[in-house]
Amino acid sequence: MNLKQKTEFVADTLEEALGAYEGQAEDNVLDCLMRTVLSQNTNDVNRDKGYAALRNKFPTWEDVCRADVQSIGETIKIAGLHTQKSRTIKDFLTWLKRERGELDLEFVCEMETEAARQYLCQHKGIGIKTASVTLAFVCGHDVFPVDTHVLRISKRLGFIPPTCTADKAHELMGEIVPKGRSFPFHMNLIQFGRQICNARKPKCDVCALTEHCLYFKGKL
Ligand code: SF4
Repeated sequence: MNLKQKTEFVADTLEEALGAYEGQAEDNVLDCLMRTVLSQNTNDVNRDKGYAALRNKFPTWEDVCRADVQSIGETIKIAGLHTQKSRTIKDFLTWLKRERGELDLEFVCEMETEAARQYLCQHKGIGIKTASVTLAFVCGHDVFPVDTHVLRISKRLGFIPPTCTADKAHELMGEIVPKGRSFPFHMNLIQFGRQICNARKPKCDVCALTEHCLYFKGKL
């Protein structure tokens, strides 16, 4: 079984166990991008608290754009790395307003995937994961985001080398994930990572993937 076949087998196995994930998770490109910036190095609960605080204090992106960076930072403190994240948010909104005349990012959905990813990643603080999540979750592009769960499981299953960085993993996984299945496969891997293949104590005794797992075989 080559890597592509193995990835397809894992996608099929997870789909059988968890169902085929359907639908997009978000419906506004700029909202999703900003929320994903807040998600860096924190958990979903604190990301959501930080995002809710930001939207509460500044109801529109225009309001955020006009606010000073310290005030944005204070508001999103719960999400962690608030100095860096507030700077990213302020700089991106300021740039978007100057570039496009309005704070609307829907047009990236019409761009070719790689061009859109590069377009978003040219900004400090917006990495390949943030761009990929946005394009996959809102635009429906067939692009595979690699978060902490996906990175861990991909190494355990031998999709990518043990020392692979998250950035490099986007490139390598992009070559082997079955075409047209990036988003549902990503979502199922996250659920699998939370329920079974968790970081500290994976539940290998109930896992259907042991035969394909380097970690289980003691090879990692
Ligand atoms: S066998 Fe264990 S480590 Fe491997 S994928 Fe399954 S749960 Fe994760």
